[in-house]
Amino acid sequence: MEPARPPTSPTLRDTNLEKLARAPFDVLVLGGGINGAVGAAALAARGAKVALVERQDFASATSQSSSNLIWGGIKYLESYELGLVRKLCRARNELMRSYPSSVREIRFFTSVARGFRHGRFVLVLGAFLYWALGGFFTRRPRVLSRARIAREEPSVESAPLEGGFEYSDGILPDGDARFVWGFVRAALDHGCVAANYVEALGCARDGDGWVTRARDVVTGRELTIRSRVLVNTCGPWADAVNARDGMRTRHRHVLSKGVHLIVERITPNPRVLTFFADDGRLFFVIPMGPRTCIGTTDTPVSAPEVGVTPEDRRFVLDNINRRLRLARPLEERDVVAERCGVRPLVVAAGSDETPDWMQLSRKHAIETDEAARHVTVFGGKLTDCLNVGEELCAEAIRLGVALPFADRRWWGEPPDALGERFFHEARLAGLDALPWPAPAEPRSARLWRRYGVAALELLETVRRDPRQAEVIVPGTDFMRCELEAVSRREMVVKLEDFLRRRTAIAQVVRADELRHAPGVREACEALFGDEADGRWSELFGGAPRASPTERMVP
Ligand SMILES: Cc1cc2nc3c(=O)[nH]c(=O)nc-3n(C[C@H](O)[C@H](O)[C@H](O)COP(=O)(O)OP(=O)(O)OC[C@H]3O[C@@H](n4cnc5c(N)ncnc54)[C@H](O)[C@@H]3O)c2cc1C
Repeated sequence: MEPARPPTSPTLRDTNLEKLARAPFDVLVLGGGINGAVGAAALAARGAKVALVERQDFASATSQSSSNLIWGGIKYLESYELGLVRKLCRARNELMRSYPSSVREIRFFTSVARGFRHGRFVLVLGAFLYWALGGFFTRRPRVLSRARIAREEPSVESAPLEGGFEYSDGILPDGDARFVWGFVRAALDHGCVAANYVEALGCARDGDGWVTRARDVVTGRELTIRSRVLVNTCGPWADAVNARDGMRTRHRHVLSKGVHLIVERITPNPRVLTFFADDGRLFFVIPMGPRTCIGTTDTPVSAPEVGVTPEDRRFVLDNINRRLRLARPLEERDVVAERCGVRPLVVAAGSDETPDWMQLSRKHAIETDEAARHVTVFGGKLTDCLNVGEELCAEAIRLGVALPFADRRWWGEPPDALGERFFHEARLAGLDALPWPAPAEPRSARLWRRYGVAALELLETVRRDPRQAEVIVPGTDFMRCELEAVSRREMVVKLEDFLRRRTAIAQVVRADELRHAPGVREACEALFGDEADGRWSELFGGAPRASPTERMVP
């Protein structure tokens, strides 16, 4: 098979690295998690000259470790933060309205144990209040008796339950990292100069702007980036970056580690099972393609560099085993993959008090130093990302950046008419009539959600060669035709970027299976050409296995 990209032609990243060093920018955004990605997308779409640098891959920190939920924060009803819940519900509704294929409504099937701190009546009332605060945008809540829970969701251990209730929120079917990538791609489409694996080493004031010393992490080459305004969206590292650059702020972060474990599918029903864990917090069993994601933990930590510990695994497994009725309890060997990240939670900078952990809400704060032309985003949630983008535009205007298209809507999926054209052409091409191992959704729906209008080009690839519609890694729904689009448009630098963030392949297939999968080798060759062996070994270690074509020879 031909490599998707001739290895000698420059990549989008190569070209952007050159541009970073050349142009003075209106705004330089540091950090490509959700907050940096929406900031860059909003500012670029509204006409600013924007650069975005991320020291690892886009969304490779907190923004790849969430619960993949777009939710209005039902739990903040307990601390009577009705204003926050209303705001988050509105943010959720706007995402669901604007991204109908990539932010979906999902039911939360919630069990309440006897003797829980609130009776079922109060909780059911809360569910209806939540629905009302969300403007009745989602389906109506439902009261669940113990008998109904046992009937509708036999995997739940119903004996210790008082009953339950069901309500709706949103889910990201392709995962958080892919959602973030969508904003990075939108920023690129509007002329943003973005590059992953570029670390900001230090930023200094220079006249009425900023000079940032940065390093291409891949080659070690240093570059200088000039901008009028600097935006720090480094999430859990934002405080350290500010301290290094001499910026004092009124806010700071406290950090909380959260772990999820991914296991075989627990229930065939496309719903989130919700419980209250032993520590009283909400605990979820979340559908993730052919698998189930369980979590999460909430542990105070002092530094952003964290990993999953045996205690974390025990907490998650013990909690789930106590609440589900399974053929046998889940054990560590059942874990297919893990997710671990750090929530950056905003508090006032002056206070040294240890905050009440359970009461810390996930608001964001945007702090601007007008004299220094410097903005920091503290805290936040994926759910609130459109507001962060809007607020960053407002701050940029305040700092004198001209936004010639200040009213332009910068978010949302392509217009319905384009979708109709794609689905019509997909029907004519017989895309959904081809054999397909992932019956949960048709091929066409998947391609439209992941590539938008670029999916029309993928269709042409399949028309030319129906083999391009084949799934290349068993247990996933990734098709061969996607490789070319990913290679050309998605700035994949390492094999892990592709397996973990542009796709969720590494979350649903065990690492030892991936290592032996011919499709992974095929992808590696298509993405990296001559460098495929090195990229493969970088992730899996050892010498690469024979190429898929070689092994097909009997
Ligand atoms: C366990 C868990 C579950 C969650 N669940 C949900 C949920 O279901 N729904 C929801 O809405 N929210 C959820 N959240 C919250 C949400 O994930 C975070 O608020 C959000 O991802 C934070 O994004 P960020 O852009 O601020 O930070 P990050 O994603 O961490 O991005 C910051 C980036 O800055 C980069 N960086 C740091 N230093 C430099 C430098 N010097 N130069 C260049 N780049 C740099 C880092 O590499 C990193 O990629 C959850 C969080 C956790 C941990």
